[in-house]
Amino acid sequence: MRKTIILSNRLPVQLQINEGKMQAKPSVGGLATGMKSVHQEGESLWIGWSGLTQEEIPEDLESEIDLALEEHGCSKVRLTEAEVEGFYYGFSNRTIWPLYHYFLEYAEFELSNWKIYEAVNRKFANAVLEQASGDDILWVHDYQLMLVPQMVREERPDLSIGFFLHIPFPSYEIFRTLPWREEILKGLLGADLIGFHTYDYERHFLSSVRRVLGLEVNFNEINLEDRMAKVDSFPMGIDYAKFHEAAKKNADQKDGEQSDLQRRLYAHKASTPDAKFFLSIDRLDYSKGIAKRLKAFEYFLGKYPEYKEKVRLIILAVPSRSKVPQYQLLKKEIDELVGRINGELSTVSWTPIWYFYRSLGFENLVDLYTSCDIAWLTPIRDGMNLVAKEYIATRTDKTGVLILSEMAGSANEMHEALLINPNNFEQIADSLHRAINMPEAEQKARNTPMQKRLARYNVEKWAGDFMESLLTHKQSDPPYV
Ligand code: UDP
Repeated sequence: MRKTIILSNRLPVQLQINEGKMQAKPSVGGLATGMKSVHQEGESLWIGWSGLTQEEIPEDLESEIDLALEEHGCSKVRLTEAEVEGFYYGFSNRTIWPLYHYFLEYAEFELSNWKIYEAVNRKFANAVLEQASGDDILWVHDYQLMLVPQMVREERPDLSIGFFLHIPFPSYEIFRTLPWREEILKGLLGADLIGFHTYDYERHFLSSVRRVLGLEVNFNEINLEDRMAKVDSFPMGIDYAKFHEAAKKNADQKDGEQSDLQRRLYAHKASTPDAKFFLSIDRLDYSKGIAKRLKAFEYFLGKYPEYKEKVRLIILAVPSRSKVPQYQLLKKEIDELVGRINGELSTVSWTPIWYFYRSLGFENLVDLYTSCDIAWLTPIRDGMNLVAKEYIATRTDKTGVLILSEMAGSANEMHEALLINPNNFEQIADSLHRAINMPEAEQKARNTPMQKRLARYNVEKWAGDFMESLLTHKQSDPPYV
């Protein structure tokens, strides 16, 4: 029977080893949710790294881990600490991530990391080749595995191979600075279908293919020697029903049933009824523009001082890649900015910024989304930004204002939000002012079409559309030689 193989850097399972005992729990990230329908329907296998290096796995637990993963429909790729260092922290997160997010000055071009990236991609490809049979479908995910499609195709051109990039694809002028630009493009072109979040990323990719490789491009198809590779955009959605239903449940909860966080937020609102909460949630990443947002908040309070003691910024910054120096520096900068702004502006009864450096579970996230009048998300570059979609999904009474950076992929589908340029403090301050004073009828008129769109194009539909497009293209393509 034909099976679907999903390949991603991390498996959708959390492994923990405590006092020699192993625990395996499914993780709940966006990708895991999105792929649920693909992974659980029919025969399928998810291949990826478990999150534990070979050095961290005691020998006697290796087979127990394999069995536990098998129960979750997963199979692991074994990576050593040195491989994770060079492939993940090195090439993926110090070269590709900054470059693709237009942080050219942060991008390091280390030959040794590139070599490890290549070798680890080969490991992932081999893991697929060991498991693939018949006319299986392979769906490769994201920037850590861009060489895999071609590596697999060389051995198994009969497989249907799809690739989806979850981050932006930069313009040719940025991409061309990469010393291994040809290898990366050739790696990706091993796929039958290459998917991006937006049409712009797709356009950038096609232009790089044309200019770097000199290949002929017809609309969204690339003419290769023996076949066509198709390129298309599939904006990733969310599990709308999950967020919407959880928010409904939240609204119906009586006193006593509410979470501690929700109770405290409500108590605050009750004690200062005309005060507003601004919410921002991001991984602590330089692409998210957190430091700029803090400065813009200070600018807003300078321009509209009447809102002092009336507004509060809740910043949830989720720890991320803290081994990479830029992330450590950013953490320091944000800590200092929050300290300075709160130190200068706080009064006995008012702390302008509530800053949380941690990650929250689903229920608490929903508490934050439902309690905050304004979501303020200002990435400098962001492939998609699911937080913006989740915020709108939880606004069951359709109130609330979303202020969103036009540099986020999701801005393409959320044009009823207040879209801002994250570098334009004047525009940001005025948008915050507008959001505070926006009549409820306008809030509802803006949120209603966004909710409809999110409900219709949810994450399951996203995965389904990609799969359908891959299979249709593979069938219509002339047979390989
Ligand atoms: N998220 C979470 N816990 C937190 C903060 C965020 O689970 O404390 C989730 C959030 O619900 C969203 C994801 O993390 O689904 C962040 O996705 P997004 O596309 O906004 O940014 P990314 O981190 O992928 O760049």
